[in-house]
Amino acid sequence: MAFTKKTVRDIDVEGKRVLERVDFNVPLKDGVVTDDTRIKAAIPTIKYLKEHGAGIVLMSHLGRPKGDGPEPELSLKPAAEKLAELTGYDVKFVDDTYGEKAAAAVAAVKPGDILVLENVRFDKREKKNDPEIAKKLASYGDIFVLDAFGTAHRAQGSVVGPAAYIPAVAGFLLEKEVDTLTSIFAEPERPFVAIVGGSKVSSKITVLDRLIDSADTLIVGGGMAYTFFLAKGYTVGTSLQEPDYVDEAKKLLDKAKDKGVKLLLPLDNVVTDDFDNPTVKEVVDSDKIPDDRMGMDIGTKTRELYADAIKGAKTVFWNGPMGVFEKDEFADGTKAVAEAVAEVKANGGTSIIGGGDSVAAINKFGLAPKMSWISTGGGASMELVEGKALPGVEALLDA
Ligand code: ADP
Ligand code: MG
Repeated sequence: MAFTKKTVRDIDVEGKRVLERVDFNVPLKDGVVTDDTRIKAAIPTIKYLKEHGAGIVLMSHLGRPKGDGPEPELSLKPAAEKLAELTGYDVKFVDDTYGEKAAAAVAAVKPGDILVLENVRFDKREKKNDPEIAKKLASYGDIFVLDAFGTAHRAQGSVVGPAAYIPAVAGFLLEKEVDTLTSIFAEPERPFVAIVGGSKVSSKITVLDRLIDSADTLIVGGGMAYTFFLAKGYTVGTSLQEPDYVDEAKKLLDKAKDKGVKLLLPLDNVVTDDFDNPTVKEVVDSDKIPDDRMGMDIGTKTRELYADAIKGAKTVFWNGPMGVFEKDEFADGTKAVAEAVAEVKANGGTSIIGGGDSVAAINKFGLAPKMSWISTGGGASMELVEGKALPGVEALLDA
């Protein structure tokens, strides 16, 4: 599915004031941006607009403010400074969003200028998509650009609001995210290997179901594997399990079989005695998990099996870690899979990563530069893979 909405390329921005919603929801420590991935991802559109003679008004949320007014530790000022540092552009910042101070700063924006407004969530009405907020924001621009993929699944004031009043188009990041994440269901280069892990089957049923429709091989790992084991009649000890979803797991296994999709489950598992205070670490086969043990990671045989399946792929989509990777002693399975996925791009294939924790895992292993595409939106990427329409995208002009 190609992108079906207008983008900044389809509209004349010269001499116009452009109101752009970006995703500058970056982690801060002591007033300094500790991960600038999202700011970097927003630069191509900002650069394009500036070079095409637009005056640019940027807005974003950051963190989870209460919505009762300014919270200095959640100010967008450090993000504005980071943007200036990364681009070399003069970037102005105003510590106001909906008031007279913001309006005055916006009025002073000339072609080529860049102004960053304060955190849109310092006012409760943003999250409620209050029309007053939408109207106010729309008054700041002649054109609205949405490039905040990470919040495109939220129908909030700064995401969908202005589109009701001024022409609204997509930025390059939004376009690329939607194109890439939907491409796995369109015409993926084959073999297409999908990898799904994470904690629960219940949160990934639609994802698994849709991937069985598209993939040649579906690899399952993480906590959800144990519910699949129950579906196969194994016992799983104290592992994470969802007895209410055993039937769903059975249906997915049957569907994969009917469609001729190879569905791989772990052959062996790293198990321990206690999640918080693990004192043992053993590898056991999947049909031999002791009653007093819980599975924390895929085992050594499984890592080999999965790596072999992944290395032959032309397209890989990965969502969800293979184990409790946050704990170093149970991160090896996820790391082995990440390393295999990294080889796909090196061999001329495409690797696409979605989901918040999966991306955190890849960053932890320092493998991000070896992937073809790492989504900047955890929740939004999952909704796309589930086949849902994103409200922010829906609100844009059709191409
Ligand atoms: P994503 O954010 O990439 O979509 P999820 O949110 O579905 O991934 O799952 C991530 C979580 O799954 C991680 O916090 C990880 O610790 C947990 N997890 C993975 N394997 C297991 C397991 N065997 N038991 C318990 N939790 C697990
Ligand atoms: Mg998650």
